[in-house]
Amino acid sequence: MDLLIFWDSGAPGGLGLPVSRFIGDLFSLPAQVCPNPVILNGYVGSRHQTDARTVLDSLQIFRQRQRIPDPVLLVCGTDLFTEGVTSLFGLARPSSGVAVVSTARLGNEFYGLPEKEEELIDRLVKEGAHEIGHLLSLEHCNDPECIMYAPLTLDDLDRKVRWFCPDCRSVLDGAISRTMI
Ligand SMILES: [Zn+2]
Ligand SMILES: [Zn+2]
Repeated sequence: MDLLIFWDSGAPGGLGLPVSRFIGDLFSLPAQVCPNPVILNGYVGSRHQTDARTVLDSLQIFRQRQRIPDPVLLVCGTDLFTEGVTSLFGLARPSSGVAVVSTARLGNEFYGLPEKEEELIDRLVKEGAHEIGHLLSLEHCNDPECIMYAPLTLDDLDRKVRWFCPDCRSVLDGAISRTMI
């Protein structure tokens, strides 16, 4: 199994390679990054946001049509929302093997702070790995340092480390070994 990362043109360029490499390292799986081939629908002008569910619908259709067996993560730059949630870092649909993360609220600029590329990369790796974790059957974890902890704020995300706690790691290893059979 590989991890497939679609990089949208609206996300900061040049980060795809480091982010995919770090994510691949976390899972000990090969991670491929390529330009996003899926049209981003779901923009709601009155909110200046995109409905993450619509994005996942398009991604799901593309993955099925192309018969892609691997988990697919889309990295986009547009700000996301979903039903009942005013904003979110990312969303996964484990039943369809697709997930999306947005860089919109992961960069310091959004919070009026100086831009730091290495911080954006770190947050994208953690958030992207979190959503891929869901695709590989992981659920939320109570350990605030674990990748599978659900971050509500950027501070929560920064408190996490690039690490799966032993419980999550063992579920993950089981899920990965099942797909290898
Ligand atoms: Zn989650
Ligand atoms: Zn955990």
